[in-house]
Amino acid sequence: MTALYHGTTWQEDLAEAIGNTPLIRLRRASEATGCTILGKAEFMNPGGSVKDRAALAIIRDAEERGTLKAGGTIVEGTAGNTGIGLTLVGNARGYRCVIVMPETQSQEKIDTLRMIGADLRLVPAKPFRDPENYVHVSRRLAEQMAIDTGNAIWANQFDNLANREGHRITTGPEIWDQTGGQVDAFTCACGTGGTLAGVSLALKERKPDVRIVLADPHGSGLHGWVKSNDLTVEGSSITEGIGQSRVPENLKDAAIDDAERIPDAEALTWIYEVLIHEGLSVGTSSGINIAAAVRVARTLGPGHTVVTILCDGGSRYQSKLFNPEFLRGKGLPVPDWLG
Ligand code: PMP
Repeated sequence: MTALYHGTTWQEDLAEAIGNTPLIRLRRASEATGCTILGKAEFMNPGGSVKDRAALAIIRDAEERGTLKAGGTIVEGTAGNTGIGLTLVGNARGYRCVIVMPETQSQEKIDTLRMIGADLRLVPAKPFRDPENYVHVSRRLAEQMAIDTGNAIWANQFDNLANREGHRITTGPEIWDQTGGQVDAFTCACGTGGTLAGVSLALKERKPDVRIVLADPHGSGLHGWVKSNDLTVEGSSITEGIGQSRVPENLKDAAIDDAERIPDAEALTWIYEVLIHEGLSVGTSSGINIAAAVRVARTLGPGHTVVTILCDGGSRYQSKLFNPEFLRGKGLPVPDWLG
C-alpha cells in the first residue's frame, strides 16, 4: 500500500498522506465525565475531512478492478467532503472529477470544490425518493459519460462497500493501536455509514464487547432505525453530510449497540467548547459526535475510554456556525466572543 523506502519518511504522493491521523484527548469532555474521551483528528487529512479515506478507498478499488483507467472521469454525488477528497486524489492520479452537490451545502465547500478544479454541478436539494435527488442525478450522469467516453465511473459512496472496507482496514485498526486496545466505546454519526460500519467491524473483531453508538442529528431516521427499526424522520438540523432517511449498503452490516439523537444546540456547545478551550476547530458532525461521546461516557461511568471522530474542520462552516446572523435566524445560541 505504501511506497516508503527503507530509512525515509516521505510519502510517494498525496494519497499516502491520507490517514494515520492523531488521536487527541478532549480535555473538557474527559473532565466533565471522569472518562478519557478521545477524538480522531480526521480534519488533518489532506482534503480536510474523514472522507479522504473513502475517496481513496473507492479510487483504489476501481483501479484494481480495472473499471477506472488512466485519464478517466469520476462522477459522484456528495455533500462536499467526498467530492473534495475525490478531486484531490483524482488530481494527483490524473482523473477528472464531476461533482454533483445539493446547493444547500456550505459556501465554503462550494468554493473549495471550484478552487481545486472539480467540475461542479449544483442541484436543488430533493429527498432521496425524488429522481432529481443529487445521488440519482450523479448516477445518471456517470452512466451517460461512461457511454460517451468509455472511461467514467460512478463512485457511489453510499452503496459501494469499498468505502466501509477502507475504514475497516485503516481507521478502525488505527484507533485500536492508538488506544493500545483500551477502548470501551465508539460514537459516530452517519452519512454513508462507511466510517461507523468500518470502525465498528474492526473494533468488534478485536473486542466483542466494545460499545458502538450511532450519533444522529434531528431530521434523520437512523436513530429510530437503531432503536425500533423505524426510519421515520422528524425535525431538522443545520448539520451537513450526516443523517439519512434510508439505510445505505455501507451501513447495513454495522455492529451498532445503541443510538443517541443530539440537538444542534448541544452539538454547538461542544464545538465552541473544544475550539476556545482546546484549540480544536471542528465542524457540525464532530459536534454531534462529541456530544454523543459525552452522553455515552456518562452512561458507562468514570474510568472508561470513549473514542469519537472529528470529521472535518470548523472553517468549512465559517459562514454558518460562526455567523451570529445565521445562528440567530435558526434560534441557536451565539457564543459571546462572536457578539
Ligand atoms: N461528517 C462530515 C462532515 C461528512 O461530510 C460526512 C460524510 N458526508 C460524515 C461525517 C459521515 O461520514 P460517513 O459517510 O462515513 O458516514
